[in-house]
Amino acid sequence: MAGEPQSDCLFCKIVAGEIPATVVRETERTLAFRDISPKAPSHVLVIPKVHYPNAAALAAAESEITAELLVEAGEVAADEKIVESGYRLIFNTGAGAGQTIFHAHVHVLGGRPMNENMV
Ligand code: AMP
Ligand code: ZN
Repeated sequence: MAGEPQSDCLFCKIVAGEIPATVVRETERTLAFRDISPKAPSHVLVIPKVHYPNAAALAAAESEITAELLVEAGEVAADEKIVESGYRLIFNTGAGAGQTIFHAHVHVLGGRPMNENMV
């Protein structure tokens, strides 16, 4: 069923507490934790606790959770003190765009100058 945990999904396992993560924020419906392979001084992933394969699928099914995900991304940026210097939100969608984990997530990246190329 849509949104149900997937047994082969790493992020569902993190939500279930089966795999450890460095959690920085949590709400009833979202979880934010540090990326295991950070690409910037601040690199946090914010995910919905429900499973959808990407951000667009989440948004199509769960508009409230999608809004909460973005609010939480902003709160992460505030906690990381990168609002003033600027930060980037990235939703990789599809393997060709670099998506490797097919559970919706947004990358919050900051703490260094961001290249103007969207690559
Ligand atoms: P994406 O390439 O957009 O699918 O992003 C997946 C991200 O998850 C990558 O930046 C990985 O470094 C990160 N990642 C993979 N495994 C873990 C883990 N166990 N804990 C935290 N982040 C992870
Ligand atoms: Zn999942």
